[in-house]
Amino acid sequence: MISRLFSSGLVAASLVLVLRSSPLTAQSASPATDVASAMLGFTTLGGAAERRLEDETAHRPSAGSARAHSGVLSAETHVAGTPAQARTRDYVLAQMRAMGLETEVRSYSVFLPHATSVRLWRIAPTEKELSLDEPAVAGDSSTTMAQYPAVNGYSGVGEASGEVVYVNYGLIEDYARLDSLGISVRGRIAVARYGRSFRGIKAREAERHGAVALLIYSDPQSDGYARGDVYPEGPMRNRDGVQRGSILNGAGDPATPGYPSTANAPRLSPEQMELPRIPTVPISYGNASELLADLRGGNLPLGWQGGLPFRYHVGPGPVKARVRVTDDRATQGTKQIHDTFGIVRGSELPDELVIMGAHRDAWGPGAGDNVSGTVSVLEAARAVAEAVRAGHRPKRTIVFATWDAEEWGLLGSTEYVEDDSLRLLRGAVAYLNQDSAAEGTRFGAGGSPSLRAVLRDVARRVPDPSGMGSVFAEWQRSSATVDTASPPMSDPGGGSDFAGFYNHLGIPIVDWGFGGESGVYHSQYDNFAWMSRFGDPTFAYHATAAGIGAAMLLRLANADIVPYDYVEFARTMQRYIPPIDRQLASRGRGGATLGLREAIGRMEREAASFARARDSALARTLSTTQRRAVNASLRDVERALTRPMGLRTRPWYRNLIYVADENNGDANMPFPSVNEAIRDDDDELAVRELTDLTQRFDTATRALTQARETLTTR
Ligand SMILES: [Zn+2]
Repeated sequence: MISRLFSSGLVAASLVLVLRSSPLTAQSASPATDVASAMLGFTTLGGAAERRLEDETAHRPSAGSARAHSGVLSAETHVAGTPAQARTRDYVLAQMRAMGLETEVRSYSVFLPHATSVRLWRIAPTEKELSLDEPAVAGDSSTTMAQYPAVNGYSGVGEASGEVVYVNYGLIEDYARLDSLGISVRGRIAVARYGRSFRGIKAREAERHGAVALLIYSDPQSDGYARGDVYPEGPMRNRDGVQRGSILNGAGDPATPGYPSTANAPRLSPEQMELPRIPTVPISYGNASELLADLRGGNLPLGWQGGLPFRYHVGPGPVKARVRVTDDRATQGTKQIHDTFGIVRGSELPDELVIMGAHRDAWGPGAGDNVSGTVSVLEAARAVAEAVRAGHRPKRTIVFATWDAEEWGLLGSTEYVEDDSLRLLRGAVAYLNQDSAAEGTRFGAGGSPSLRAVLRDVARRVPDPSGMGSVFAEWQRSSATVDTASPPMSDPGGGSDFAGFYNHLGIPIVDWGFGGESGVYHSQYDNFAWMSRFGDPTFAYHATAAGIGAAMLLRLANADIVPYDYVEFARTMQRYIPPIDRQLASRGRGGATLGLREAIGRMEREAASFARARDSALARTLSTTQRRAVNASLRDVERALTRPMGLRTRPWYRNLIYVADENNGDANMPFPSVNEAIRDDDDELAVRELTDLTQRFDTATRALTQARETLTTR
């Protein structure tokens, strides 16, 4: 999977040229001195020393070293549960040991059925088997390596045949549209295009509407020739390119929902698991043409025409297809996955953890997704390890993680978080995620609003590989909103390994990377040759992503008081109220949000008082006991915005601030407990959920008050 930080990148791209000459560009070319003089969470002296350490450490990751790691880690298709993926584990462990890190492996046995064969035929009007392989291309020797079959992870198994129906994106509203046209997919094969929702939602909706199989194709309009030259001539998807990917909705091993897949854990049988049941197969637009070109019938709804060179029709038929999927679930559906950890013990607060992680598995060679993230973690680890050898051991413990089986539904990180939840709840300060960290030149970032200020500050100090100034300056220049001080950052809905930390436990997270034009997502062509020609030819963006990681880790690990920004957090929360207010007011419940608005206002005021108390306390000396107590209270703030029973719709999702929309899987939903009730037209519940959320904000505010009182009462 991939974080969705860069989905608006294309809009930004067209602005880059216009904004090159903007006067703003001069601003951060050399870091402003006022930034250097006050480093949040540090004493004046400590902050100055930390600046020097971060500046030095952020320069340690090297493009040459990143290129070497990338070559090794993308040398084979390394799907979770395969021997090739065990080799990436061993490589990462050997590298981290050579750096002098302590290492650990956590292995879990999870339900991970591998496809053994996948075949697709058009059976009418003429018969033809459609080849699903992604063929070798000239000048790219790695396209001859072994491939994982073109199938969606957790596809149903068996054979199905029927008339073809084109369902647009396969969204809930697309099926409603088909209903209004009197067209059903029942007993038929649905063909949907990728985009606008998580593919697991497409599979769920096709199955709910009675389709016997689902084929999901990559329309050239979204990442093919309509967007640029196709591979190998350009970076976009060619007519044979396939987007694999999981269709599991939810996170973690479906055999052990909510608890870790350790050796003796009870496990559901496949029949009891929440799994897709119909065969679901991703296909290229070459193959989609074979099915869609001769489709007839139905009045094509507005907006349903895609980028293939013929008029689209909905069907059903006269084209018919047959699809067959087999996997190994009957004999060896359960497989071992392995998370790796490299650890730098903290000198003063070893129980407090700052974690940086990336998934290590892929659907193919995965040079972008996610060798680039793994390389960022490795190079950040090397940078921090060298700082430690030079005498700068961090105060808190730093953990460098690589997760297995993310591509199947965040399995490795989820099982780990469930396994180690008590320690994480007590001591985790932040989780920094790297997914597709370097696939282009445009910086994007997201995360909890409490950590955004730290990331911006670090990005101001790290030079951008373009040579145009800092990463922050380039980020601001390429963002659509240059008139504001801060480029927009995305919210942590879901879709990558931060979900366990954020959605399940309420640990603040942040995520960043460099994106660009790419049509090789989850394809065999996401490989070293593609990366070397298009994604990051110099590997400088890999090194820069790692440099930001190293500086972020040191900042959060060394701060006397962890620099969460709860003023920015509260202000961000305030913005989610007006849409709720408008909807409730239109149903005669105006004013229902008043309590929440006031509670968030109290949080903002307390956060501002705390910040003043923090800054004046740091001008004096703080005892270790005081520091521990303040930081413990601060860690309680976002934890207070989770609830043990989770969302009504999904108990694993305990965080009440953001979640991926249940009806879309990709789109982010703020205040989900409230907004889901409103969407269900359950106004009474919406009001109860508002009250519940209000109380939790007040609990969060009390944690801030406690932090402040620890500083002011001596
Ligand atoms: Zn990924």
